[in-house]
Amino acid sequence: MPLRALICWFRNDLRLGDNLALIEACGAAACVLPVYCHDPAADAPTRWGFVRRGPHRRAFLAAALDDLDAQLRARGSRLLQLRGEPAEVLPALARAIGADTVVCEEIAAPEEQDAVAALRAAGLTVRTVWQSSLLDPAALPFAVARLPKVFTDFRRAVEAAGQQPPAPLAAPAVLPPLPAPVVLPPHSLFEPLRMGDRALARASFPWWQPAFAGGERAALAHLARYFAGDLAKHYKATRNGLSGVDFSSKFSPWLAQGALSPRVAFAALRRHEAEQGASEGSYWLWFELLWRDYFRFLHLQHGRRLYRARGLNAAAPPPPHDPAAFAAWCAGRTGHAFIDAGMRELAATGWLSNRMRQVVASYLIHDLGCDWRAGAAWFEAQLVDYDVYSNQGNWLYIAGRGTDPRGGRRFDPDRQ
Ligand code: FAD
Repeated sequence: MPLRALICWFRNDLRLGDNLALIEACGAAACVLPVYCHDPAADAPTRWGFVRRGPHRRAFLAAALDDLDAQLRARGSRLLQLRGEPAEVLPALARAIGADTVVCEEIAAPEEQDAVAALRAAGLTVRTVWQSSLLDPAALPFAVARLPKVFTDFRRAVEAAGQQPPAPLAAPAVLPPLPAPVVLPPHSLFEPLRMGDRALARASFPWWQPAFAGGERAALAHLARYFAGDLAKHYKATRNGLSGVDFSSKFSPWLAQGALSPRVAFAALRRHEAEQGASEGSYWLWFELLWRDYFRFLHLQHGRRLYRARGLNAAAPPPPHDPAAFAAWCAGRTGHAFIDAGMRELAATGWLSNRMRQVVASYLIHDLGCDWRAGAAWFEAQLVDYDVYSNQGNWLYIAGRGTDPRGGRRFDPDRQ
């Protein structure tokens, strides 16, 4: 028998299409209240001395929430945005609407899991739904506990098994009504960011332009634009570019906020291949999306052990740290022109190419002798596409504290 009312808690799944948590919520109750929580922790300073979420991601998120709200309204519902820790605001809200159940996306990272545990401790029933990977972890050719230590072995096993991602799920045409009584704020809780910096004009991901704004509709339009031409065909040759819009797909900011489901992106890739032919470039997009999955599955396998200073490498010494060198790195004032260019680009625009991320991360760890966790925290604050799994996984990989037995990765900045 369906519940009278429940809360559908949006997290990193700010979309209606291919959203199993939303579909389950709609099927489980007569009334559904869609909610997003602005946790003040995101805007509070970390142990490294800066906030967790800088202005670029804040603005990109605000656009996604506006888009989600508009799409919900078009289907007879709305998004309630609350400021506060989920464990404080959601139980109170549930009481106000006579509900005791929350449905949400599962996020296999420690703080996100703690948030769910706190809701349960507060007496709520929380149903979590895994939905952020391309492949279904339950259908992998091995148990997640036996995930190969090296990415190439993982990819080969998946490809040998012929594993394909499930088809994306359609967005619900209509949403259940809101439970009464709820007072909904008229607009997003964020102030729009005023842009005045000329450096932004040449950014590789110009998120303040409507075509690159946060949210599902901009994501789908970008996907269609990307696959309409021959960018995917040349992707393998261009993907290590450093600046410009088209050298890589630029899917990651929308994937990170969940405005774009990886299965929707993959379905578009397959359609493109059916229409224009498969190519080395189109294969490489699948390859890179598998990296994204790999870091997710690594979290399912190792959980919070990935967040220790030594990571998974029991033999690794505690990471050294040099606060002055770290501050210079963040500010783009190390004295190495190439590194400084990258770090200034990151702070000014919220974006950095994959190759440049590798180079500056390597420089911080292997040349400046700083703690990899400080670098990961700075990326978290700055990147418009910050994703807990991909960020942690890539930093661990470069630091040599992940699963890869070949040790850390040093990029020679002069050669680069
Ligand atoms: P494309 O080159 O077009 O690739 C297509 C998609 O494949 C990307 O959107 C992404 O989802 C996935 N992908 C590509 N490379 C990687 C990779 N190395 N790891 C995981 N997924 C990948 N990516 C994030 O999304 N969020 C992060 O917070 C993040 N932090 C990073 C930190 C470091 C130190 C490094 C080296 C890489 C990080 N990456 C992160 C991975 C990668 O740099 C970005 O995904 C990529 O640059 C995004 O641009 P794109 O969408 O144009 O990628």
